[in-house]
Amino acid sequence: MKHEILMSGKMYAKTMEVLDATYTTHKLWEAPDQKKKLAELAPRIRAAAAGSGKFDAAMMDALPNLKLIANFGVGVDSIDVKAATQRGIAVTNTPDVLTDEVADLAMGLVIAAARRMAFADRYVRDGSWVNKGSMPFTRRVHGKTLGILGLGRIGLAIAKRAEAFGMPILYNQRRKRSDANYRYVADLTEMAKLSDFLMVSCPGGPETARLVNEKVLRALGPDGIVVNIARGSVIDEPVMVRLLKEGAIGGAGLDVFADEPRVPAELLAMDHVVLQPHQGSATPETRTAMGQLVIDNLAAFFANKPLLTKVG
Ligand code: NAP
Repeated sequence: MKHEILMSGKMYAKTMEVLDATYTTHKLWEAPDQKKKLAELAPRIRAAAAGSGKFDAAMMDALPNLKLIANFGVGVDSIDVKAATQRGIAVTNTPDVLTDEVADLAMGLVIAAARRMAFADRYVRDGSWVNKGSMPFTRRVHGKTLGILGLGRIGLAIAKRAEAFGMPILYNQRRKRSDANYRYVADLTEMAKLSDFLMVSCPGGPETARLVNEKVLRALGPDGIVVNIARGSVIDEPVMVRLLKEGAIGGAGLDVFADEPRVPAELLAMDHVVLQPHQGSATPETRTAMGQLVIDNLAAFFANKPLLTKVG
């Protein structure tokens, strides 16, 4: 007999196909009354696969036999991990397999924001090149200083790419790394002051909420560009929008936003920002690998084997 699992949110379609073939899956988003559905499943659900959307303490309380939440993604800020730990529920994520994909997009955003590639593309398409002549000059990337907030797996992969562009690299996080030859700057505002580009690549969640605040952004300055591939929550978004509008910061490259998929209308109207629909890990190769980790963690759980990528 197949084991039953709860799926709390959608994930890569091919991963869902495998899960559907392996388990009796209960897709919470399809239930007209989710509370009722959870109550009905409560005695039988020991494992869940988490895709988009929250997995909070109330959901955990509704499932007293839950022992595993296998998250599709490395960032677990949508899951209340503390509540899970208190209840003896393990949480797994999908580290490493997406690192290079996200770093590629991060570097792409550095270049696209500095060289205003989205604006330039529109400039060609709308006939401005023909009607107005050459577009305004943009900003240099190579040789400029990159400050990285969060030199973890993805941050390191970004640093490696930036090194090839001859960019001096600084980083800020809670602990200085003993295995990285980049300059550690203990104060984020100080790092922003020293940087031409501020790369945000730390986790989301309450601990990092609005870490990139007005002081940090003002320190980055009118020639500085902020790039965020982490989570929208890490930057004070309304402040960033205001400072971009005032020209107090020079530009932005953003893959993530505070209230996805809604993006502030003011950002949509700006030519010195490049906007992406949270697509950092979204290639078939990487999504397949992420899905495989979800599949393998669930399989390990039901076989009473050690989990592959437990958080914490
Ligand atoms: P990671 O290896 O855990 O690295 C996170 C880094 O952030 C660590 O070096 C950590 O250093 C630092 N950090 C943690 N808490 C911090 C704090 N309160 N203040 C300052 N720095 C802090 O994670 P990763 O695999 O590189 O992933 C990073 C994040 O990228 C994920 O959590 C996720 O939100 C995001 N992401 C986005 C996409 C996308 O599609 N755009 C895709 C994948 C991941 P310390 O512990 O020393 O502070």
